[in-house]
Amino acid sequence: MKIDVEYHELITNKDIDRRFPAAVAATAEGRGLYQCVACGKCSAGCPISDALEVLPHQIIRKAILGLKTQVLSCPTIWVCATCFRCNDRCPEQVNPASIMFVLKNMATDEGIVPEGIQTLVRSLYANGWASTIINYEREELNLPEVPEANDTIRTILDRAGLKKKSLLEEDKG
Ligand code: SF4
Ligand code: SF4
Repeated sequence: MKIDVEYHELITNKDIDRRFPAAVAATAEGRGLYQCVACGKCSAGCPISDALEVLPHQIIRKAILGLKTQVLSCPTIWVCATCFRCNDRCPEQVNPASIMFVLKNMATDEGIVPEGIQTLVRSLYANGWASTIINYEREELNLPEVPEANDTIRTILDRAGLKKKSLLEEDKG
C-alpha cells in the first residue's frame, strides 16, 4: 500500500511504525496528537518556518502516520525555538511545541542526536556552560576563564542518564 501525503512524498508500509503515534500520544505532552485536524495554523504562525524544511504541522502529520524514523531524524525537532506560539495558535490543543520535547526525548533514547547538540551537552557537563567558544572569546578580551561547573550540574546530568544515552561520548563510532 502506498499513501500520497500532503506534500507528494510517497511512503510505504515499511516506513510506518504503528506503535510510534501511540507512544507519543501516551505521554502527558503528546496526548493531543490525534486531535490534529491539519489546519496548518501552527506552521503559519511559526517564527522560524522559513528555516524549516519540515514544518510543525508536517511533523505532527508524520507522527500520526507512524513515520518514526523520519520524525526522529528530522532537524525540525531540534531547531524549534520553543516559543510555544504553535501551542497558543492550535485550535485543537494538540500542543506541537510540547510534542517536540517528546520527540527530542525519543530521538535521544534512539541515539539520534545532532552532533552540534552533543557538543553542547559535553560542554555543559565539563564546564557548566552550553558553549564551546566562551573561553576562547574571553581569552581574546584578556578575561579569566569561566569557573568550572560544580558537581551539582554533573549530578543532575548524570541522573538524567546522559552517560547511558551515550551523549557524553566523544566518538560514537
Ligand atoms: S514552538 Fe517551535 S514549532 Fe512551535 S511556533 Fe515556536 S519555533 Fe515554531
Ligand atoms: S494548529 Fe493544531 S490542529 Fe492545526 S495543524 Fe497544527 S497541530 Fe494540527
